[in-house]
Amino acid sequence: MTPTPTEQQSAEWLDCLAQFPADSVQCLAQLAEMRQAELAEHFYTQMLADPEASQYLSHERVRDHLSSSLQRWVVQLFGARSAEQIAAQVDLQRQVGEVHARIGVPVSLVLRGARCLKRRLHELIDALELPLAGKMAAMRLGSKLIDLAMEIMSQAYSSSHERNARAEEAYRLFSVVQNIGAERERQRAALLDWENTLIYELALGRSQAAQTSRLASSEFGLWFSHKGAYAFKDTPESQRILACMQNIDDELLVRFAAAGSEAERMQVLSELREQTRSLVFLLDSLFEQVNELESGRDVLTRMLNRKYLPVVMGKELAHAREHGQSFALLAIDIDHFKRINDQHGHEAGDMILQQLAALLSNHSRGGDYLFRLGGEEFLLLAVSVDRRAARQMAENLRSKVERESFRLPGNQPFRLTVSVGVAVYDGHPDYQKLLREADGALYIAKNGGRNRVVMAGEQP
Ligand code: GH3
Ligand code: MG
Ligand code: MG
Repeated sequence: MTPTPTEQQSAEWLDCLAQFPADSVQCLAQLAEMRQAELAEHFYTQMLADPEASQYLSHERVRDHLSSSLQRWVVQLFGARSAEQIAAQVDLQRQVGEVHARIGVPVSLVLRGARCLKRRLHELIDALELPLAGKMAAMRLGSKLIDLAMEIMSQAYSSSHERNARAEEAYRLFSVVQNIGAERERQRAALLDWENTLIYELALGRSQAAQTSRLASSEFGLWFSHKGAYAFKDTPESQRILACMQNIDDELLVRFAAAGSEAERMQVLSELREQTRSLVFLLDSLFEQVNELESGRDVLTRMLNRKYLPVVMGKELAHAREHGQSFALLAIDIDHFKRINDQHGHEAGDMILQQLAALLSNHSRGGDYLFRLGGEEFLLLAVSVDRRAARQMAENLRSKVERESFRLPGNQPFRLTVSVGVAVYDGHPDYQKLLREADGALYIAKNGGRNRVVMAGEQP
């Protein structure tokens, strides 16, 4: 049976202790016991003086809570001997890592803290009445145990961090995609209801309504600022809705309350109406996009957008590693696309992009991923292919495009070509490297005269 991570790390810990004479182990444990308060004091003085670290600390929290838990941590770290104690220590380090991830304490900061602790520990050991060899052994053991603890913490940190990020994304989708149709109707109604009630009140001469009926605190306003803005974050519409709401509350309603004449009040009311109309319009267009955007698809071409690249690449790298398979990236870029826009208009350009996207989807396999990285640049992640198959696939696509009759507005036929740069997975864990290689190959294909395939790492 393969050992669990705790068993494996406990075994390493035991191994580490076994490499040192018993009196070094004993000496370190005693030192920690006796000087724990001093170590904690030194550690937190340094950390509170550090501008980055101090964001996560306060004098009170250090005094009431953190100082004593650090002391306990040091004593247990250097005092654990039995397999049972060590397993408990491994679990503790993991929990600490998870807490750091939840709070968002950067790993670099934790490592800086460890460095600070080691330094002080070495000074304390150095001051002991011991032969040099004994001091050296205690220092090495102290450093090794701290390193081991840091390693376990960081590992727990990163897996927990990833989990949090995934959960956040999932929540973001969940928060709106649950029932788009119903939410859209409900928020539309809430917005119009707010407007009607306000205008009714104002028309009845209850001008205090201009102060008490802020859009931000209405049903719609609360929904948008708590959920909508989060779910639709990064869209220009969302920014405009927030700006529009602020304009209504801080400008128009204030002007209405201060207006001296009927004409002025009517003017404000008509602006208010206009602003509400644009809110409804923006809201509609947000909801229209949400299906596409939130499922990670590009609105124009229905391909995956760049945002999902890290997720997909991470998944495919892990898959390739585990199954000993290879995959390839095909960077595909339309040749002289700018001319299409220039000569036939942007709309024609968009039509061509859609047709090319359809062609690429029709000629790739179900397991492959297609991204629109931006503009007229596409990326095909071809799963489970070796170098030969990847080249063949790229060449097929290139020639399909060359032979295809595309359509411009008015059904006018149009010919175009693409250049393709191909990089094949070689076991390197950083997907950025593979992307750079595909890009580099594409660049060579463009320079070599376009309408061609270049394999990264091969002479074209
Ligand atoms: P090359 O052969 O070197 O790739 O030349 P190119 O003209 O294709 O490439 P360049 O990068 O110079 O121009 C890309 C153009 O794509 C510029 C931009 O106006 C246009 N573009 C980017 N995104 C869109 C889009 O969504 N729709 C349309 N119609 N055009 C776009
Ligand atoms: Mg191009
Ligand atoms: Mg380009």
